[in-house]
Amino acid sequence: MTELARGAFDERRWLLPFRGQLLPQIFTDTLVVGSGVAGLQCALEAARHGDCLVVTKDEPELSSTAWAQGGIAAALGEGDDPEQHLRDTIEAGAGLVDVDAARRMVNEGLEEVHRLLADGFRVDRVAGGEVHLGREGGHLRSRILHTDGAATGIALVRHLLERVRAQRGIRLWVKCHVVDLLTTGDGVDGCVRGALTWHPRYGLQLIWSRAVVLASGGAGQVYRETTNPRTATGDAMALAWRAGAALADLEFTQFHPTTLYVAGGVRHLLSEALRGEGARLVTRSGEGVMAGRHPLGDLAPRDIVSRAILDVLSATGESHVFLDVRHLGSAGFAKRFPGLAQSLASFGLDAGRDLLPIHPAAHYSIGGIWTDGDGRSTLRGLYAAGEAASTGVHGANRLASNSLLEGLVFGRRAALACAADPLQDAGHVNIEARVESTGRAALDLDDVRSSLRSAMWRHVGIIREGRHLRDVRDMFDFWGRYGLDAIFDEPAGWETQNLLTAGRLMVEFALARTESVGTHYRRDALPGSAIGPRRRLCRGGAIEPCPCPPTPAGAAR
Ligand SMILES: Cc1cc2nc3c(=O)[nH]c(=O)nc-3n(C[C@H](O)[C@H](O)[C@H](O)COP(=O)(O)OP(=O)(O)OC[C@H]3O[C@@H](n4cnc5c(N)ncnc54)[C@H](O)[C@@H]3O)c2cc1C
Repeated sequence: MTELARGAFDERRWLLPFRGQLLPQIFTDTLVVGSGVAGLQCALEAARHGDCLVVTKDEPELSSTAWAQGGIAAALGEGDDPEQHLRDTIEAGAGLVDVDAARRMVNEGLEEVHRLLADGFRVDRVAGGEVHLGREGGHLRSRILHTDGAATGIALVRHLLERVRAQRGIRLWVKCHVVDLLTTGDGVDGCVRGALTWHPRYGLQLIWSRAVVLASGGAGQVYRETTNPRTATGDAMALAWRAGAALADLEFTQFHPTTLYVAGGVRHLLSEALRGEGARLVTRSGEGVMAGRHPLGDLAPRDIVSRAILDVLSATGESHVFLDVRHLGSAGFAKRFPGLAQSLASFGLDAGRDLLPIHPAAHYSIGGIWTDGDGRSTLRGLYAAGEAASTGVHGANRLASNSLLEGLVFGRRAALACAADPLQDAGHVNIEARVESTGRAALDLDDVRSSLRSAMWRHVGIIREGRHLRDVRDMFDFWGRYGLDAIFDEPAGWETQNLLTAGRLMVEFALARTESVGTHYRRDALPGSAIGPRRRLCRGGAIEPCPCPPTPAGAAR
């Protein structure tokens, strides 16, 4: 239970005041928010049951999905099967995996991959034509499908987008930003009926739908160091929170150990597939970072590798360590990872010749909107899929390359649930959203955004401690009083308000879990503390255990 008062974060229902009758009205059966793997997959299934509108706030090819490198995990290899994939998933999840949901993911995920291949999705193959399967951390078998080495995500987005565009019954609106969800009723009677959107040309509009599927990704931008694109501003968490849906597992963020560290440069991910190909983490003086730290060495789980790097950095006072992939040679590297070779060249680096400077960064939001195994949230009419959702498949830590798979499986499942559930048809309801501004002095938006991202990185990052978490919570409450009080008329303002909300809630979940588990590492944890269950929280409520079963004893190796 939490004793925390969230003030402005609990009170603010709408980001904008509006009178529904005065705005243009649009109607659809299923409104899908996001054009990553989860949203596109969901739309393709939804279009088989009715009409579907996909809205995405930037270009359709800008998403974490498009930036995904290593690939898609599936038990395709000889001697492999979904149960082995499940065991690796459970092992990575550190005792908090929802086994039923994860089993569904590995079984149906394999079917989704077969469907993709049958539908012409291009993947790298070995000389005999078999699919080339890469190896990544935490997987005991080679089971990662990939395209052009480490350009899997963009290939997948293009493949799915082509099908979405060819499908009658799907409209795709780009640069269309969802500001808030439209609801009727309260609490358990609450029902999501559509969304308030904003478009640079058409302004505010109301989209009414039978169901809304939030496939709008994670919250990586809440951290100063992140591998995520600029669109990952925690909108799904904040939209669902304001509407009254439960969020779960927000203390769990996966940090990726190997992002390229070039001062002032974008934090470009250096895929785990490199370590799968034998790359080693070394210090400036050539010592192995992972020596003696974990039986899997450089392929240990990401949280362990990230903490090992921080240990080395704090001991040496350096700003980064290095990835040594020189054994592949310049030509070998360029052949296996053409996209990465090109990106490195733009920084004057040649992987066959140079040690690559790296540093950890926030990578994946494990927590999100609590859903059941079919993407249903706690609010009628609201569904979530992909990184926006918290299905329990990752437990306390995500196994590499399981999230594209998750998007394929739960994107489809959410669409099927929308079609099957008895929901009200899209219809207009009179909604008048009032936002009382108290006229408090406005804070500098850019300053708040950069301060909150730094505070999150320093104190709610790879290593956490109660006293610092409490300080950050107080900072958020201060920023929230001013930042949430303001009314903005463009996305940068709404995104900062969403980042404030997502960050504040992540701190609250991190405070509530006093033990270390998976990606959540508390320096002040008491040795031998029991691991609490997965937890969830609704606006105005207190943190409570999720109603899903914990990993049965003996399910993990
Ligand atoms: C650099 C990088 C490499 C990765 N590599 C891999 C990998 O190899 N394998 C793997 O399995 N996973 C990988 N991941 C993780 C994986 O890519 C993501 O978890 C997954 O793609 C998320 O898909 P999604 O559809 O849920 O969300 P996203 O792909 O993030 O899509 C979210 C969409 O929602 C839109 N959106 C957001 N807010 C709004 C709003 N308010 N209104 C309208 N639209 C909105 C965005 O514009 C975007 O289109 C990687 C992630 C990154 C960042």
